[in-house]
Amino acid sequence: MRITADRERCASAGMCALTAPGVFDQDDEDGRVVVLNGEPVGGDAADAVDLCPSGALSAADG
Ligand code: SF4
Repeated sequence: MRITADRERCASAGMCALTAPGVFDQDDEDGRVVVLNGEPVGGDAADAVDLCPSGALSAADG
């Protein structure tokens, strides 16, 4: 799975970092998403993509 994040759309809600803390973090300045691991294994990252309230996260196969 390949994860991408649109930081312009991120609303700093933090659901991604709570759901998949090894994959996502929030930056110290404005709380927007930072992708720590763009090619994660396992379901947490996919759950985080689904839970993001702003639709800022995308997951693609590969
Ligand atoms: S869950 Fe979505 S809106 Fe919230 S910090 Fe993560 S990417 Fe941003």
